[in-house]
Amino acid sequence: MTSIDTTAVELSPATARPNLLGMSQGQLEEFFVSIGEKRFRAAQVLKWIHQAGVIDFAQMTNISKELRGKLAEVAQVTLPAVQREWDSADGCRKFLLRVEGGSAVESVFIPDGDRGTLCVSSQVGCSLDCSFCATGKQGFQRDLTAAEIIAQVWLAARSLGQFDGERKRRVTNVVLMGMGEPLLNFDNVVTAMNIMMDDNAYGISKRRVTLSTSGVVPALDRLNEFTDACLAISLHAPNDELRNKLVPINKKYPIAQLLASAKRYIDNVPDNHRKITVEYTLIDGVNDRPEHARELAVLLKDIPVKINLIPFNPFSLSDYKRVKPHVMKEFQDILIKRGYTTTIRTTRGDDIAAACGQLAGEVNDRTRRSQRYLQKHSQAGQKQSADSDVESASSSGTDLSSNTDLSSNHSNSGQVFARSSG
Ligand code: SAH
Ligand code: SF4
Repeated sequence: MTSIDTTAVELSPATARPNLLGMSQGQLEEFFVSIGEKRFRAAQVLKWIHQAGVIDFAQMTNISKELRGKLAEVAQVTLPAVQREWDSADGCRKFLLRVEGGSAVESVFIPDGDRGTLCVSSQVGCSLDCSFCATGKQGFQRDLTAAEIIAQVWLAARSLGQFDGERKRRVTNVVLMGMGEPLLNFDNVVTAMNIMMDDNAYGISKRRVTLSTSGVVPALDRLNEFTDACLAISLHAPNDELRNKLVPINKKYPIAQLLASAKRYIDNVPDNHRKITVEYTLIDGVNDRPEHARELAVLLKDIPVKINLIPFNPFSLSDYKRVKPHVMKEFQDILIKRGYTTTIRTTRGDDIAAACGQLAGEVNDRTRRSQRYLQKHSQAGQKQSADSDVESASSSGTDLSSNTDLSSNHSNSGQVFARSSG
């Protein structure tokens, strides 16, 4: 595992000038019209930023010198600073990006043969608090802007040498499976996805961009109007009673509503061969029994799905345990026997805490959830220590003071909690 400090991209001070980085072609066209320029400038600027990696207007040489000067006065292209990058032994690269408001978010590049998948964050933290998720435990600060979401693709592309013509390692796929619930940040996520798929920008096919949701049904019902990207739903349980415990938003939008909405989405995408990916995180002794697999098979029988089993990735403040390999295999076999394409997601990048559900970043938690967890956990730790007379606090990873220094704590981010906004 290696870690690199990169400070090349600076966060410029917020100004009233619009940031062109997070604008889709349509929005850029409107911008150019609003400053008395021609619409076709939008495609030119989009190509410069997202295909050539040029963010300095002065270097956009097919634009007149006069217009370049004007752009520098009325607009900007700014990105979050890359606080740090880590490379894992299996080729994954994790990025920690400093965003305005004192927080930091993470994204992960996962190479696999010709494919290079970037796992992108959509929010600073997450308000939904699924019981097995490190991001959820961090609480929530704010939505990422469209610029901050697409910046994750830009920064990964730059880091991989993609703008300099590197063909072997590039971002070919994007999954919105990092920190946050994408459908709770609808407009910014949709704009960023459209930039990912625009031929004048990254040109990633709609079959290679996947939005994952825990089930914000009203937003999912609107998604078709704005995109036809792939859809993954985080199910994790075959019935409402169990799902209510794992994914609290299920109490508001139960499984039947979620599945009906997901089916409507997929029925409305123009090519009719597509399937919904059902994500199912297997947690030891919680949702991994053969009867759960059989119930899941019945539940999904009328829906075009492929099932992706994810072994639970542990983090320090969760008591859940990773599923046993033979239990996972048995679960998979039951589903395969009933005709479902069922894959197991390999754990990647866990030596740099970059595996599914381990992305934590640093959340300046507005909800004070992280603080409450920390208190609860440290009380439990103290009780345990008193009971058993063994030292427990230092191994619990809950020492806030040691977590305020960025440079030292991120070798295990996702396993420690962010500092609170205090
Ligand atoms: N909020 C969205 C997208 C981010 S979570 C959603 O919930 O779908 C992306 C995926 O990682 C989800 O399927 C989620 O359930 C899974 N995940 C979260 N925590 C995990 C953990 N500790 N181990 C394994 N997978 C986890
Ligand atoms: Fe949020 Fe998804 Fe984590 Fe649930 S699993 S807390 S929705 S990021």
